[in-house]
Parts: sequence; C-alpha cells; structure tokens
Amino acid sequence: MPELPEVETVKRTLNALITGKQIQNVTVRLPRIIQRPDDIQAFANMLAGHTVVQVERRGKFLRFVLDGLVMVSHLRMEGRYGLYQGEEPLDKHTHVIFHFTDGTELRYTDVRQFGTMHLFQPGEDLLLPPLKKLGEEPLAPSFTPERFKAIVSGKSTKIKPLLLNQEYVVGIGNIYVDEALHRARIHPETGAKALTDSQLDLLHHAIVATLTEAVNAGGSSVKSYVNGQGESGSYQHQLLIYGRKDQPCASCGTLIEKSVVGGRGTHYCPRCQPQAKAEK
Ligand SMILES: [Zn+2]
Repeated sequence: MPELPEVETVKRTLNALITGKQIQNVTVRLPRIIQRPDDIQAFANMLAGHTVVQVERRGKFLRFVLDGLVMVSHLRMEGRYGLYQGEEPLDKHTHVIFHFTDGTELRYTDVRQFGTMHLFQPGEDLLLPPLKKLGEEPLAPSFTPERFKAIVSGKSTKIKPLLLNQEYVVGIGNIYVDEALHRARIHPETGAKALTDSQLDLLHHAIVATLTEAVNAGGSSVKSYVNGQGESGSYQHQLLIYGRKDQPCASCGTLIEKSVVGGRGTHYCPRCQPQAKAEK
C-alpha cells in the first residue's frame, strides 16, 4: 500500500500533469470505487465543467481541489492515476475516466478494486469521513518533538501499532514504521509508555528523516506502486530493514528477524533494537 512518500509523489506528478485542465465528463465503469455521493450519475454530473485547481495530500489520501468541489481519493493497495490521450486503448482494470476538454483523460486503474473516491463541497471534506479523524501530518512544521511526545504519552499500546494508527500520526504504513523504529533503535513491541524522552526524540527525528528521504527519492516501489507518470520510485534501494529478513543488519551484521506485531509483518534487528526484558 502506498504510504506518505508514495502518495506525496503521486500528488506532485499529478499537479504537473492535470492542473488547469477542465473536466468535460466522467465515465464510471466500476461503481464501488465511488463512495460519495451514492448516485454514480450524480458523481459524474457534479464533476462535469469543473477545472482542476491543484492536487493536495492529507495523510495517505489525495485531495483533488477543483473550482467549487473537492474529490478525496485513496489508492489503497494498487490504485493508480495516469494521464492518457483519449484515443489510447483502455486497460481492463481502468475503472474511472475523467475526460478533459483538451482531449486527454485522467484514468484511475486498480487491479485490486479497493481504491475509493469521495466528492465534497469545499471545506466539507475535512469535517467528514474519511478525512475527519486524521491525526498529525509528520512533515508539517507543527509536528515538533513536543507534539509527538504529547501524542504518545499515556497511550497503553505498543509503539508500532500506535504509529500505524492514522488518528495519531498520518501517512506512516508498514514499510516506514519499521524503518523509523530501526533508525531509532527501538524494538517495535516496546510499550509507548516505556519510551524515554531521549528515545522519543530519536524516534521523532527518525520518522521525519525517513519520510523526507523517501519523498526525495520518489517513494519506494516495493510491489507495483508507480507514480502518476508511470515512473517507479527508488527508495526501496535505501531501505535498511523492511523486506530484509535473514540479511545482515547494515549497522551490526546481525541477521534481521521478522515477526508479527499487531497483526503486521515486522522487521527488526535483534541486536540494534533489543526488547526490554519486562516485555518478553
Ligand atoms: Zn543491527
């Protein structure tokens, strides 16, 4: 599933591709992608005639800001946006087509069919699901070490599931949580309450640094993720821990282990990220 760096990359490429284009009409080939409004024809009718002002990101969601409407979209497992000429043949997994007045088309393709689109009046989208309950943006200036400590403090969960909970901090998924915990030398099963002030400082820094580097690399292409221009990111070559089970840790040479934490496959170095005795 794309995480913050991948969605940020899609956002940036879409901005370069579709800003200023006017929607002539919309074709919906798979109704389940459209979550709001319930009526697919109403979705298409509402969008017709509107121009793309810019594409923004909130957590792992894309926000297509139009003149007078906002469309919120989540790529889920394998959703993908691409710009095509109208005459190019359609992929059988293309489910929604935004036809622009200049003859180009923004096509939404999704093999797994889990992606979503919600349409809102401006301002409405941030007050309603799915964006309503989203937590702190980790690359925003407001995400300070103090803010992070306030979020973590008093929580009785393990640190990994806490970081994956989008109601606290947004955009971090299974890849970047393992990378950040490894950088901060924190075992993923450590209780949030057990983390010291200096560990939380290290973890805050690790989250921001990991996500920033990944954004700069265009995200990771671990499975089939590509950005809005069909290009793969390159951060998968810089991953230190994720997907490296039984390979030597870059810091200490110990073989990387994989276990299940909070239902998610979890990579860690047993030497760099020791588990506190009380938690074993
Ligand atoms: Zn190590």
